[in-house]
Amino acid sequence: MYQTTIAGSLPKPNWLAEPEKLWAPWLLEGADLERGKMDAALVWMSEQEAAGIDIVTNGEQFREHFVHGFLKHIDGVNWNKMTTMGIRDNRYDAEVPTVTGPLSRQCKIHSDEVVFTRAHTQKKLKFTLPGPMTICDTIADEHYGRRADMAMAFAELLNQEARELEALGVDLIQFDEPAFNVFMDDVSEWGIAALHKAAEGLSCKTAVHVCYGYGIQQNIDWKKSLGSEWRQYEAIFPAINNSRIDQVSLECANSKVPMSLIGLLKDKEVMVGAIDVASLTAETPEQVAAVIREAGDFVAAEQIIPCTNCGMAPLPRDLALKKLRALGAGARLAAGIVK
Ligand code: ZN
Repeated sequence: MYQTTIAGSLPKPNWLAEPEKLWAPWLLEGADLERGKMDAALVWMSEQEAAGIDIVTNGEQFREHFVHGFLKHIDGVNWNKMTTMGIRDNRYDAEVPTVTGPLSRQCKIHSDEVVFTRAHTQKKLKFTLPGPMTICDTIADEHYGRRADMAMAFAELLNQEARELEALGVDLIQFDEPAFNVFMDDVSEWGIAALHKAAEGLSCKTAVHVCYGYGIQQNIDWKKSLGSEWRQYEAIFPAINNSRIDQVSLECANSKVPMSLIGLLKDKEVMVGAIDVASLTAETPEQVAAVIREAGDFVAAEQIIPCTNCGMAPLPRDLALKKLRALGAGARLAAGIVK
């Protein structure tokens, strides 16, 4: 029997935020907004449980964006000084805040949502935080001078946060590092060291999510430029396999990443992405099961955790729900459990 999970995010209901958008503006304010986030999280936790997902998340219903949700509460990040920056090696431009002084946390950032989430599910709970390298690729720097130094400063703050969340009952903390397959040399030079710092002292499971990005147009165009086989992971998986991080999440559904590359992660648990978040068609359970079985050719079944390729935040809500159900059903099918 496989343990299943999702990469992290799920769409916001259309009464909470503008649908089918990244960085979607909230449609509620004040106390209504806070209540709305909780209600949306309850809906998604119940849907995950009904779909047979074993390790659930709150669907990231409490944050506007996976990186800036954390940055909003960090001193040293100047939101009055926005800089237009080419991110992911100039794949797209984004207006980002600027680091203009030493970094420190103003407060506990995600504790309240974790207390709420933990109280409303008996399932294992996963929580996602942005990885240090990806944060540094999503913010301008006028203070630290070297990305590696700024990454270590963020890693220290992530570690403070992660320790609090673990103490509140989170079972798995995942660091999202889509920048890992863009700056491959930096991964072994300082990316893993920064992750280790972020995960230092944690006794819960830890994971890193690497990916080729959400199904937005800039990513779709970039992927077209990568050729017929995507081998970027070949450069970073040996370093990740040697790391102290327990699990790796990557995309395997409709991916041009050769499945054989997960053989480089022989000492890790692998969250095998069996749901394509860039496709507007829900997978069938048979398609999901086929991806899981193929992964089984390269890593042991006990190491496989069926998952989504990436976050489902930008998808239509009903489609995300169908994909969630296909994931649960496909994992049961692959395990030989007919229900
Ligand atoms: Zn992703």
